[in-house]
Amino acid sequence: MATPSYTTHAGMVDILPGDVEKWQVLEALIRDIARTFHFREIRTPILEPTGLIARGVGGTTDIVSKELFAFDRGEDAYVLRPEGTASAVRAYIQHSLHQRGGSQKVFYIGPMFRAERPQKGRQRQFHQFGAEILGSPDPLADAEIIAFMATLYQKLGITNTTLRLNSVGDPASREAYKAALRTYFAPNANLLSDISQKRLETNPMRILDSKEPEDQVLIEGAPVITNYLSEDSAKHLRQVQKHLDRLGIEYVDDPRLVRGLDYYTRTAFELTSTDLGGQDALGGGGRYDLLVEELGGPATPAVGFAAGIERLLIACQALNIRLGEEPRLDVYLVTYGDEARKWAFRHLKPLRDAGLSAAMDLSARSMKAQMKEADRENTRWTLIVGDEELQTGLFTLRDMEHSTEEKLAFPDILLRLVMPRP
Ligand code: AMP
Repeated sequence: MATPSYTTHAGMVDILPGDVEKWQVLEALIRDIARTFHFREIRTPILEPTGLIARGVGGTTDIVSKELFAFDRGEDAYVLRPEGTASAVRAYIQHSLHQRGGSQKVFYIGPMFRAERPQKGRQRQFHQFGAEILGSPDPLADAEIIAFMATLYQKLGITNTTLRLNSVGDPASREAYKAALRTYFAPNANLLSDISQKRLETNPMRILDSKEPEDQVLIEGAPVITNYLSEDSAKHLRQVQKHLDRLGIEYVDDPRLVRGLDYYTRTAFELTSTDLGGQDALGGGGRYDLLVEELGGPATPAVGFAAGIERLLIACQALNIRLGEEPRLDVYLVTYGDEARKWAFRHLKPLRDAGLSAAMDLSARSMKAQMKEADRENTRWTLIVGDEELQTGLFTLRDMEHSTEEKLAFPDILLRLVMPRP
């Protein structure tokens, strides 16, 4: 086969018929769980102002410092959104959603973009679904967000997962903790990876996130945030744990789980799976009580999660979880001759109006080729239309499943197809 002139960029993937049905099943399931939790969908633009993302995600993160797809056009700086929370918060502020009263529960599904090194489970265009509760400081909201996320994996039967839970405290306790981390790492800074040495200055909590092998020994001995939490933050975490216990959602306490951004407060969580290999995070999230204000809105406590759809699919595949069937074609009109083709083309409409999927050959191929196609498309019925049938008004309807045939006039055919015999 000739090499195609154009292919997708690295890390950008086509989702073809055959696979797309799995996506549709997952998306429908996500929407249905959102419905039962009473979260409303929000759809925001894929291009956002660069400033929003820089501020909303944080300048010291990898996402902003090296993974943004960004460009200028005229006066404006655009970025392909790398995640969904900043956009949801922007929309919340821009449209004064707090005026709708109560807390806002929103969810989203859509493509995100990060210029990462592509590998299994890590793409440059990938898809996330996520949810946010804006306006509630209550630990119940944290538990509700975690329950939403956990329900999907439960319903799908993805069981080899671990939910890790922590609190990153409030800004005061975090400053104390950062100081303790600096004091701890500083004497051995030269043993740390280059990136962690930089983070020691910019954001020492991110060192705990490091996957660099040389960092691991030092990380193991590092102080844990648990000892620096204010009484309020510690109590909040205990209450989230109790709510999760009541829901029967299992978790493990992981005092080294951090979300590196300054606006993250209190609860942090991550769901990992042993079926994913190197990129083992299915999803994660946490509380961000300071972000709405940071982005210019009214002080609004909030909590959310985001999870990857590609990784969800990898986990389903590893566990042999079947998602969706190939769609079948209800009826294929096999034609011979020009008149037959015209008749068939006209009669696709009543069949389709009756809710059936109906198709015919669009390129005047032989009957044999048409029958082959009907087979390939997993067709339930074929209807043979030729000169003779047009003259008599009786058409051969073939039941492909039971290999039986009958001759019927058109209105009867419609009836038979809509109400097949048991
Ligand atoms: P994050 O916004 O980084 O917390 O990511 C949330 C989830 O999105 C992760 O747990 C992954 O499941 C998924 N994810 C993040 N980055 C990528 C990527 N580059 N490719 C595929 N999935 C990703």
